[in-house]
Amino acid sequence: MKSGNVLKHFEMSWPEFEVHAKKTNFAILPVGAIEQHGPHLPMGTDVIIGEYLAERLALATGAILLRSLAYTPSFSCRYYPGTVRVSDDTFTSELVEIAESLYIHGIDIIYVFLSHLGAAAACKAAERKLLLTSKARLVNLLLPGYQEALDKFCSSEKWHKTYVHAEEYETSAMLAIRPDLVDMSKAVKEYPEIDPLLGPISIPWNEFSKSGVVGDATVAKVETGQAILDYIYKKSVEIIQIHQDSLKS
Ligand SMILES: [Zn+2]
Repeated sequence: MKSGNVLKHFEMSWPEFEVHAKKTNFAILPVGAIEQHGPHLPMGTDVIIGEYLAERLALATGAILLRSLAYTPSFSCRYYPGTVRVSDDTFTSELVEIAESLYIHGIDIIYVFLSHLGAAAACKAAERKLLLTSKARLVNLLLPGYQEALDKFCSSEKWHKTYVHAEEYETSAMLAIRPDLVDMSKAVKEYPEIDPLLGPISIPWNEFSKSGVVGDATVAKVETGQAILDYIYKKSVEIIQIHQDSLKS
């Protein structure tokens, strides 16, 4: 284990893991995506945001930080060049098997830190499957507090109440974490007309968004990104604390 005080599973030797798993029985698993994020952001945007927050959470809580999962369900954006789609079933199985294999080594709980909405259904299915079949547990954290944070800190109008993608929030977050990967000269504003059937049926996003952006990426700022990230971080620590306390009572 090399870097700082974050306990990184990927960088530990097995004897180191054994020592740490005796001290802590929980881990954090970032789940992102490799999918289009408009012409101005990298396809790994969700991975980068998820890893950044998960690392801070691991440091704050003493959890073991697991290697992030990048190839995940990305159904809506699957026709944009470069996007990788894994099925929900495959991903659910992967999560269940990760939880079961770490459970036998002393990790009872994995906090799944989700920065990609498209993987939420598969993560929920994995959590439920484990409840029925195993003692290993998953707790799903889907960017806790992000809706409030967006209302509080974003200056642009939301395109949709649930779907947020490559717009002011994600662009600002990337400006705060990896500005070298953001090309603001290519950032756009796109507010497609919302089909009332979006949600009831799964419409591929390339049918309504030319750029892949939904909302306004042009107004993104470092400060907005940092404020939103800090807010989500704070809310996430609170939820982990509440969950840990609930296990003691
Ligand atoms: Zn994203």
